[in-house]
Amino acid sequence: MNDDDKGGPKGPKYPDPEEIKKTLEGMFGQFGKGAFRFSGGESPTFTEESEDEGEDFVEPGVDEIFKFDLLPRDIKAHLDRFVIRQDEAKKALAIAVCDHYNHVKTLKAQDDEEEKIELQKQNVMVVGPTGVGKTYLVKHIADLIGVPFVKADATKFSETGYVGGDVDDLVRELVSKANGDVSLAEYGIIYIDEVDKLASSGGAGMIGRDVSGRGVQTTLLKLMEETEVPLRNPQDMRGQMMAMMDMQNGKKGKDMVNTKHILFIVSGAFSGLEKIVRKRSQAAQIGFSAEQAEPAMDGELFKKVTTQDYIDFGFEAEFIGRIPVRVVCEHLEASDLVAILKYSEGSLLRQYEREFEAYGIDLKVKDSGIKKIAEMAEGEKTGARGLMTVGEKILRDFKYELPGTSVTELVLDDDLIENREKHLEGYRELGQELVVEKARQEVEAFIREFKDKHGVVIKLSDDAVARLVKMAGEQARSVFQVARQHFKDYQFGLKLIQKNTGQAEFILTESAVNDPDKFLSELVVKSYKDA
Ligand code: ADP
Repeated sequence: MNDDDKGGPKGPKYPDPEEIKKTLEGMFGQFGKGAFRFSGGESPTFTEESEDEGEDFVEPGVDEIFKFDLLPRDIKAHLDRFVIRQDEAKKALAIAVCDHYNHVKTLKAQDDEEEKIELQKQNVMVVGPTGVGKTYLVKHIADLIGVPFVKADATKFSETGYVGGDVDDLVRELVSKANGDVSLAEYGIIYIDEVDKLASSGGAGMIGRDVSGRGVQTTLLKLMEETEVPLRNPQDMRGQMMAMMDMQNGKKGKDMVNTKHILFIVSGAFSGLEKIVRKRSQAAQIGFSAEQAEPAMDGELFKKVTTQDYIDFGFEAEFIGRIPVRVVCEHLEASDLVAILKYSEGSLLRQYEREFEAYGIDLKVKDSGIKKIAEMAEGEKTGARGLMTVGEKILRDFKYELPGTSVTELVLDDDLIENREKHLEGYRELGQELVVEKARQEVEAFIREFKDKHGVVIKLSDDAVARLVKMAGEQARSVFQVARQHFKDYQFGLKLIQKNTGQAEFILTESAVNDPDKFLSELVVKSYKDA
């Protein structure tokens, strides 16, 4: 790949500023200066993790980074609050991150005159299947330290950046995550998943990915070492226009982002790597049976993985050499999924409880329910992600039907999961019963009040009550309020009728609710006739 194509640090092809200025003036000049605005203007978003905890983290600024004083055990303790298992990964990540930010601090503290210590960046490789907490770990580390964090899939990139995403965009995305603070972005964390897909076919049999996969590795390698990425994408006309406008408005800031201190964490499932390790061990170790069941990558096997195994898998030696820290995240079993639901601060159950609480429903999740969800989720084979799929499937109908009824408690246990329809029907009936019961009480209260105030006895037919319930629902008012307002001047007419006919009590039907005036005047007219 050559730099000219790429717009890398050596040969970014900026459009000529004069040319852009002319274009701009031609396009917008008629509106006068300052009359136009570009919305957005940010590089494409790569994070697919916005699902998680969406809270907008306010970055503390780069000065905080230079005061970094966390210990590896502080970071591990923080991660333990959210991430279940993965102890080795937590430790290794905690150490790597502390080393990285301590280096940063040391370098900052060094006087420019002095000879600088050469430091090797602790980029990290996390190997492990999907949904076991790889991203979750990195995100919580970034949150704790207060640095921006960007996640992307290696498969989205193409060598030239023209077809797929441009790896440089990752760096620009970091700036946007840091609210435009380039200095802070220069200490951020870039997390790239599915790097195993960049391997050439050599080891893993990924035919077709050879050329561009290797190209992307080279491009990433440059980022991981040190390069200057232009703040505005040279291929993005709009970005260039904005840069122009900043220049015109006298706004001056960094227009290049240096990647020297950006921490890179890459990950992937690396399925097939265990075969390579086994094959090698087999060659070295007579008696290792080829028929032996293929063990998935676990902590024990992972200890045996060498750099050469990654190269055999299809990685460039230079690329893998830039990633000295390697850790494994292990497969999660049903019992781990139970622990996630019960103990992780980010547990889905808390989220579900809050969601039901918003409708005044108390979600009570029993242990038997948790166990059942975990077992079903394990069957999905997507790690803890399965919890979400299963939880959503189980609760969807309840979430739809219960809000707005008078159900105030939902008990989620194994029986509810196994007999969902039956329980749903039960809750439906309960919801209705409660609605009717409550309405009946309010109607009674209204009748009492009417009698106390006016000395007239009224009754409401069942269909009149049903109609009032419906109206109350539509108007978001209580049945009592609706009845009171509907029959607010009824006492005059009813007393008149009493005078004419001596009628002791009155039954108000659905027609009375639908058109109170008409109903009453007909009664009055009739009473004169009868009299
Ligand atoms: P991946 O390993 O594919 O990067 P993620 O970290 O994105 O998986 O996990 C998806 C979600 O599953 C997380 O947002 C988190 O809610 C949950 N999760 C995954 N692993 C764990 C774990 N070990 N402990 C607690 N929650 C986890």
